[in-house]
Amino acid sequence: MQILIVEDDRPLARGLQTALQKQGYTVNHVENGKDCLHVIATEQPDIVVLDLGLPDMDGLIVLQKIRKKSTSLPVILLTARDSIDDKVQGLDCGADDYLSKPFEMTELLARLRVLERRLGTIQSALITIGDVSLDTTTQMVTAKNHELELSRKEYMLLKSLMESAGKVITRATLEARLYSWGEEVCSNALEVHIHHLRKKLGTDFIKTVRGVGYKVQLT
Ligand code: CA
Repeated sequence: MQILIVEDDRPLARGLQTALQKQGYTVNHVENGKDCLHVIATEQPDIVVLDLGLPDMDGLIVLQKIRKKSTSLPVILLTARDSIDDKVQGLDCGADDYLSKPFEMTELLARLRVLERRLGTIQSALITIGDVSLDTTTQMVTAKNHELELSRKEYMLLKSLMESAGKVITRATLEARLYSWGEEVCSNALEVHIHHLRKKLGTDFIKTVRGVGYKVQLT
């Protein structure tokens, strides 16, 4: 998995590079938009982490140019700007995710894992764990060969958990996957969806990791 970091803040870029390499990622780093576009044209990174405030051009312009060449290359935006407008604009320009500075490394890692899983499931649309199968193309879920009726949010939640089976997914990550920016969320909404899923899947399929989040065990 090769990650391209586009960031002119050198200490931050170095920190990111070290942390990501420790996780086993291959990491490249450029400091401006022009070099970023050059690398994307020649090296095909798997994921781009793109700062919006670059010295030579606005990160959103860089993102638009990336999208003209590739609609599927995952891009995570980094920004010091924190308004809803900027988030909406970034997502409208085709960003896959968005992190406001300062952010926790664990959060960037969690988001990268999500994108990674998404890349990994492009080849196989069907995820099967134990006797539960989830088809990401038809959005059909079966347990013990019986089709389940899930709400949209239940499906999205189960898909996130099954795509990252074997790993704990934090509440924050699940909520971020489940709700759009600015969407009002009740504090126990996630628990309610998990409760409904357990009723349909059996109580053991989704494990609670206390104080952290949830996971689906690989079998
Ligand atoms: Ca910057």
